[in-house]
Amino acid sequence: MMDPFVPYDVTPYSDFSDPNVVAAFRGELTAVRDRLGQDWPLIIDGEPVTTGSWIESTDPCAPGRRVGRAAAAGPDQIEAAFRAAERAQASWGALPAAHRARAVVKLAAVMRRRTWELSAWEVFEAAKNYREAEADVAEAIDFCEYYARQAMELDDIVPTYPYPGEENTATLQPIGVGVVIPPWNFLLAILTGTVVGPVVAGNAVIIKPSPKTPIIASLFMDMLHEAGFPPGVVNLLTGEDAVLGDALVDDRRTRFVNFTGSVATGLRIHERAAKVQPGQHHLKKTFLEMGGKDGMIVDETADLDAAADAAVAGAFGFQGQKCSAMSRLIVVDAVHDALVQKVVERTKLLEVGPAEENADVCAVIDRAQFEKISSYLETAAQEGEVLLGGGPAAGAGEQGGWYLQPTLVADVAPDATIAQEEIFGPVVAILRARDFDHALEIANGTPYALTGGVFTRLRSRIERARREFRTGNLYVNRKITGSLVGIQPFGGFDMSGTNAKAGGPDYVRLFLEMKTVTERF
Ligand code: NAD
Repeated sequence: MMDPFVPYDVTPYSDFSDPNVVAAFRGELTAVRDRLGQDWPLIIDGEPVTTGSWIESTDPCAPGRRVGRAAAAGPDQIEAAFRAAERAQASWGALPAAHRARAVVKLAAVMRRRTWELSAWEVFEAAKNYREAEADVAEAIDFCEYYARQAMELDDIVPTYPYPGEENTATLQPIGVGVVIPPWNFLLAILTGTVVGPVVAGNAVIIKPSPKTPIIASLFMDMLHEAGFPPGVVNLLTGEDAVLGDALVDDRRTRFVNFTGSVATGLRIHERAAKVQPGQHHLKKTFLEMGGKDGMIVDETADLDAAADAAVAGAFGFQGQKCSAMSRLIVVDAVHDALVQKVVERTKLLEVGPAEENADVCAVIDRAQFEKISSYLETAAQEGEVLLGGGPAAGAGEQGGWYLQPTLVADVAPDATIAQEEIFGPVVAILRARDFDHALEIANGTPYALTGGVFTRLRSRIERARREFRTGNLYVNRKITGSLVGIQPFGGFDMSGTNAKAGGPDYVRLFLEMKTVTERF
């Protein structure tokens, strides 16, 4: 089929080094600031629903400021959402794929028009600085544009070999109703991608967003409405995990779970979804994209300035709260001290402060995360030499915001807790390797395999890393965060997940089943 849309391309970013651009974005922040504190309903079958109970979303940089309240769903709303999704899926799934693809392209257009408004909400709800916030919205737009183009081919018959006397056709059909469970860190991008992939394929979904960032999910529903999606195709259940999580995963009507989050939650979903419930006549599929303990190797031939820049950007962008964040810096002995000195110098320049003011490092997402990271910082002091940071930033806490200092810990052993467990904050374990072989061994020495990097000038080592560095996304001579939809399919191996490869050419196909028809003449 000819592609009726312009060729896919990634969404460009604004230039926030231009003071005029910053001033204009601040106008958008002011407009959104005036809208903080509202109540947002569930959306079931296209209708707003409230329940009398609420969860609260607060600004991580000013925890006393309410970003909004989202309705808390219970068993009645779960029931209503499944009924709506099943009903809607029957007609949505029967539409030509091009019809669904156009709806998704329209959604992208709506998002594009509202990019700065959405970015401003992310500044308040997740404490992303301007660039990180806008990059998240851009990625959401890219997921829509990219998956819509994949969907244009779904109605084609899948090529197979002919056989005399028969006609054989293989066609793709949607799986049915699924549950989408995104994390809070790429609050719009991952939510959008994990909804739009299955939905453009003809499935209907119930979204259970993170209770830490429910308001962006409400805005997403608002945009679906503006884009003209039929009611019931996407339903939103905000609320408490304890009420919603297991209930949605366990329900016999759930056919697939599209999850991104921590290993602990992913494994729980994996186990529970495996159990066939009374009245359930199918196996549930689970797509589980989980954590990382991402390492970057720097060898003795590397460009140390470039490596130090990449280390700092990869470690401290969005406060290190990225699954792809560089949390282990693995440096070959010969250049260890020189490289570490450069990383320390650059990290010292990072300004810790409010996302509203576009600081380099802003608050971490909430009190629970602040306390979890703080406890790892205590462990860090036992397990290595804290070169920089190591605790809360001045004035942090309930009043001041969940600020932590960017932290560098040297002389960490490869099997130390802070070198093995995902901390998900602005903390880097620095590990000294004897040589490149040892560095590779350390890099591969965790249960995770999500992102990784190598800085070297030697072709032979690049080739070895290509073969032997066990990681879903390997970056050579650049930072290890910031994958682009359609360009760097993203997702890990091992305990990092099921390798769904978000933004990859097979993603939409995951949410389809193939039917083969053979007619003998
Ligand atoms: P999390 O596991 O705490 O939560 C993820 C989602 O699961 C949220 O929506 C949460 O509300 C929900 N949840 C919690 N308990 C549940 C239950 N019992 N049943 C069903 N759902 C439940 O993770 P998080 O803190 O939101 O996100 C951070 C994690 O996500 C990190 O480990 C990070 O590495 C990972 N992550 C991975 C990728 C990737 O592509 N591999 C991308 C982003 C984030």
